[in-house]
Amino acid sequence: MLGAGLVGLGGATLLGCSAPATEGSSILAPVAPSEATPTESRVDVPSTPTPPAGPPPPLPAGRERRQLLADTLWQTPLVATHSGREGPRVLVLGGVHGNEPGGWLAAESVADWEPAAGSLLVIPRANVVATRIFERTLPDLGDLNRSYPGAADGLLPMSRMASAIIDVVREFQVDLVLDMHESWGFYLERGANSGTAFIGQTVTKGDGPLTEVFVRDAVEAVNTRITAREELTFRGRLPQPAPNATPPPGLGGTQPGGRSTSSLSIGTHVPGTTAILVEMGQMEQPEYRRRDLHLLLATELLTRHGVL
Ligand SMILES: [Zn+2]
Repeated sequence: MLGAGLVGLGGATLLGCSAPATEGSSILAPVAPSEATPTESRVDVPSTPTPPAGPPPPLPAGRERRQLLADTLWQTPLVATHSGREGPRVLVLGGVHGNEPGGWLAAESVADWEPAAGSLLVIPRANVVATRIFERTLPDLGDLNRSYPGAADGLLPMSRMASAIIDVVREFQVDLVLDMHESWGFYLERGANSGTAFIGQTVTKGDGPLTEVFVRDAVEAVNTRITAREELTFRGRLPQPAPNATPPPGLGGTQPGGRSTSSLSIGTHVPGTTAILVEMGQMEQPEYRRRDLHLLLATELLTRHGVL
């Protein structure tokens, strides 16, 4: 029997949203190339490698907690709960950006959930230092969502965290990564603004075996239970950049050759994994509601996926 009280994840500092938070444009000094950075000689991201055959054997039932980047300033918990039954393996990320509390508050709740099948892994505050100071990130940390696949000996801590997350995905044979973020404006209210500050209430899928139909159906199911303004927009699969084109807003930076460096690229690095990136809008939408909408969608996705 697992107790929900086993996991103490520290209280959140609820400071509200004092500044527009965007996925694509840092509010700080240059941190890493944004999606606005022109790149040359773009090529298509290679097709996803063939996933391993058959589901992995179940892990022993119970909850384990370990630290990523243990014994460093950036140490942050991974909470892994195993049902003891064969099934999907899901990883939920929160706190990739420190000024997006709806995402990490939701992730902290998910860390207490009990999977009905497979395993549920959660990293509630991936960039824990940024969440403590309520900043998107800092130049000395790097931007985790511009750092995949990262490097274990990377110069910036978030490059090392990206590498640690990739290691978790590989070790547990995770097949779905759900990355919880916030933007400022709402996508459906963006008007002439096509920038990254208006991708709130959107859901995007990265490369991987999970189908667009699966994600779209989950989004549409949630949309029947929320208000018209809260409606989520499925933005489709991570679009491949066209030659000499500026990448679409909100999908993270790219490395030479046009490959995405956001979490949406995880499926290109680990066979059999698909990432979904969710943005809730902060503008005139209270923090608790952003958290709850993340939880609504997570419940829908994980139930349809067979974990809950
Ligand atoms: Zn974010």
